[in-house]
Amino acid sequence: RALKTYCTSSGSIRVYCRVRPFLSGQSNYLSTVDHIEDGNITINTPSKLGKGRKSFSFNKVFGPSATQGEVFSDMQPLIRSVLDGYNVCIFAYGQTGSGKTYTMTGPKDLTEKSLGVNYRALSDLFLLAEQRKDIFCYNVAVQMIEIYNEQVRDLLVTDGKIRNSSQTGLNVPDANLVPVSSTSDVIELMNLGQRNRAVGATALNDRSSRSHSCLTVHVQGRELTSGAILRGCMHLVDLAGSERVDKSEATGDRLKEAQHINRSLSALGDVIASLAQKNPHVPYRNSKLTQLLQDSLGGQAKTLMFVHISPEPDAVGETISTLKFAERVA
Ligand code: ADP
Ligand code: MG
Repeated sequence: RALKTYCTSSGSIRVYCRVRPFLSGQSNYLSTVDHIEDGNITINTPSKLGKGRKSFSFNKVFGPSATQGEVFSDMQPLIRSVLDGYNVCIFAYGQTGSGKTYTMTGPKDLTEKSLGVNYRALSDLFLLAEQRKDIFCYNVAVQMIEIYNEQVRDLLVTDGKIRNSSQTGLNVPDANLVPVSSTSDVIELMNLGQRNRAVGATALNDRSSRSHSCLTVHVQGRELTSGAILRGCMHLVDLAGSERVDKSEATGDRLKEAQHINRSLSALGDVIASLAQKNPHVPYRNSKLTQLLQDSLGGQAKTLMFVHISPEPDAVGETISTLKFAERVA
């Protein structure tokens, strides 16, 4: 059967790392990154962490000069496999300000060159679907949700009323699933999602860094000769900031948020680490995020944990803990 030949290789877990460049006005800072070579990154640690160097190895490390195009082209085969019926999960992990949203979406003022993975992934899927149109007929639809304090919100609502998902809040079958057929459809929806995401946030209380946002792309392909159907699904996840909140300073809502974030990020780490170790028990039930993505994590699914680090010396503590998190799931 033709379909079988499309779906042979097994699931995989890959870990990438990207170092954000210094921002304007930071030209005389000294980077904590000592050097990058192939998949290895070496960090200069200050005296309080035992002055010296620490090295970490991943599948790929992108330095501060890597372009959006270079980053995407490395992820392209993984993303394309969704049209072969694979489930794919891509997670952007890192402290607030390390470049997660830049990688996934792009900077505030988007240009063609600075478009992030989300946009490039969708336009590439449309391109490939077009190239395969004599073999497959594809339907593509997207959902966009946010998880904040273990509550799921549908971001693709047009009536201005952001709803929490149903009581169980699982699998978000009730989150709007919107058919798309072009990149401009996707851009329009992502703009709607961004606007909805901002609802409830104030200037001093930017929620986006403390919630997970997930763009899910559902693909259904019908093989024209046999009529056989294949389904693939891709989750593009911009995670909440991984920074540890000082317990002595955080109180009330801020403390509750921090506890939810810590718990869900470590639950995600636990799931990916046990998949990487081929552990028969995978603890999916410990967070909303891992429950939602259960079908797309493990088995034949392909996972990319994409960690982001900031180059500033005062971020070195978070940088080391991000790299340790990544090393654990690699
Ligand atoms: P996060 O989503 O992790 O909080 P952002 O993506 O918002 O971080 O990045 C913080 C700032 O750094 C933004 O102004 C963003 O445009 C900029 N930035 C991040 N990564 C890069 C990069 N690779 N090149 C240029 N600017 C970047
Ligand atoms: Mg962000």
